[in-house]
Amino acid sequence: MDADEFRQRGKELIDFIADYLTNIRTRRVFPNVKPGYMRPMIDDEAPKQGESWDKIFNDIERVIMPGITHWQSPYMHAYFPALNSYPSLLGDMLANGLNQLGFTWASSPACTELETVVMDWLAKMIGLPNDFLHSHADTTGGGVIQTTASEATLVALLAARKEVIRRVQSQFPYLSPAEINGRLIAYCSDQAHSSVEKACLIGLVKLHLVPSDDKLRLRGNALRQAIANDKENGLIPFYLCATLGTTGACAFDNLVELGAICERENIWIHVDAAYAGSAFICPEFRHFMDGVEYTQSFAFNPSKWMMVHFDCTAMWVKSSAALHRAFNVDPLYLQHENAGVAIDYMHWQVPLSRRFRALKLWFVIRSFGVEGLQKHIRNSVRMGILFESLVKNDDRFELPAERHLGLVVFRLKGDNELTEQLLKEINGSGQIHCVPASIKGKYIIRFTVTATSTNTDDINRDWKIIQIAASKILRPLANLTPQERRNKIKNLHDDFRMSLVLSNTPHSPCLINGSFAAMLPLNTNNIYTMTHELHQRGLKNALLPISTRRRTKNFLGQQTINKQMSMDGYMINTDQQKNLLTIKTSSLPISRQGSLDSRVEEILENNNMDNKETNEILFVPTINHTNMNINIPKIIKE
Ligand SMILES: *Cc1c(COP(=O)(O)O)cnc(C)c1O
Repeated sequence: MDADEFRQRGKELIDFIADYLTNIRTRRVFPNVKPGYMRPMIDDEAPKQGESWDKIFNDIERVIMPGITHWQSPYMHAYFPALNSYPSLLGDMLANGLNQLGFTWASSPACTELETVVMDWLAKMIGLPNDFLHSHADTTGGGVIQTTASEATLVALLAARKEVIRRVQSQFPYLSPAEINGRLIAYCSDQAHSSVEKACLIGLVKLHLVPSDDKLRLRGNALRQAIANDKENGLIPFYLCATLGTTGACAFDNLVELGAICERENIWIHVDAAYAGSAFICPEFRHFMDGVEYTQSFAFNPSKWMMVHFDCTAMWVKSSAALHRAFNVDPLYLQHENAGVAIDYMHWQVPLSRRFRALKLWFVIRSFGVEGLQKHIRNSVRMGILFESLVKNDDRFELPAERHLGLVVFRLKGDNELTEQLLKEINGSGQIHCVPASIKGKYIIRFTVTATSTNTDDINRDWKIIQIAASKILRPLANLTPQERRNKIKNLHDDFRMSLVLSNTPHSPCLINGSFAAMLPLNTNNIYTMTHELHQRGLKNALLPISTRRRTKNFLGQQTINKQMSMDGYMINTDQQKNLLTIKTSSLPISRQGSLDSRVEEILENNNMDNKETNEILFVPTINHTNMNINIPKIIKE
């Protein structure tokens, strides 16, 4: 392809994209394809000779579109929004054309300089304290664009880890960094995103999931208690990831309470506001950030709600020196005469190379203006409020958690299975797309307002679809006796496992060989966690095959329960009649690193299993962060 053909084809592709986005309501939002659908549509080998653009272009509709989930559609309500906009697309088109790598100031000065200016703009737009600004003379603070919120969480954790290791070493010089690292413990609420857990896995630090309150917020008392317990056990608290706008139900941790504690304890607070951060452009939502002055780092994704398309995570730190200490490597070939005077963003991130992402951010902010962006956010929130009012007016439904911003969580009253069936029904048609989550044992459907163009007609249409689906599920149950009703609902279990895996909740059960699996070790924490998790999810025994259920019961009838009760004061009640186990506790166990998946083989061998059939092992759902350091499980045989 030469420049002339690029001019022509480029314009055609722009037309294609504009047509796609303006006509997106005509497409089925969720594709109807099976895994592997694409392979038969494409040649097995790469072409020897180059192909014409016409041939390539035609394959967009033939091969790609049938497998696309249309995230820009107003009928997309799953996850969180991932919006684009025309100025944003143009920004990236230019960045791609320039394709420069801005790792140091010298490697492309405009890339670094625009980023510092635009990140200062954005910090002021959302009302961050001045210490987060590049232009603030008294601090080494400033903003940087990371690829994802997960990466921002990791970067902050690594910087906090470096700081605490330095501090402890200054008091105890004979301790090695590894020894200190082994005692570090991080905190987040039980509603936090799984990326916190991932950051802890990478950083080899323990993670304490602190229980949220009845409104799903992390509060000061719970954190204080957790810290006190951990310190008693010889651990060193060093990092808290507070969430503003949790993924499950958009709950907000209380930064005022948490901040005061962390200041006293020298704990680095990182704020993950991936979705909700965009709302802080509007002053009326900034009260959710109260206490932000206590935090050391703050991140949100303009790539979610601010119409700057993926990837773009805005992250600010008060001390870029801390990032430097964590990431500074300075090989000769990257040194330049302005080093130390100008910013070298390679010291603020994990990779070396970086794209010119500030361009799309700059284009979007300038094209919409602060007021245009506020209008966009307020419209999404209004659509959320409209949907909430529709749910409220239908007494078959309930709202299990408060609506915040553009996320409404709802469910059918009654058993979890009804809501699960409802979700299956509404997603099945491909007319709208939602994902579930589990809130304190309740199966819920998340309805996020996503598209920039979503209007009241769209919301009314979606609600009608949901109401019709609800009638379809509830009508056959209406004339049954309570017993018949229970039996019928039981039969709705089929796909329970898969639908929860799809959920965007922090602790998805782990999948091994296609089934939920984990060894059940003779380790009290793990038994506790497994059961707690089962109970929290409202899964109870529903998830376990009957033979396993029997084994669980036998197993739990042995010494473990007594041990548990005497050990940590966990309260365990076995409800013999319902054959389920309930555990209540005030604090969650500390997690340890490692992956059970990687140890399954080893565990099997150590137990001299001659029969490796899966049903010889107790299979239970588990959560990743408790998988480690487990004792070799005793394999229960019939
Ligand atoms: C979406 C989300 C994330 C993950 O964002 P990535 O940019 O994909 O890493 C993390 N935390 C919260 C609260 C989120 O909503």
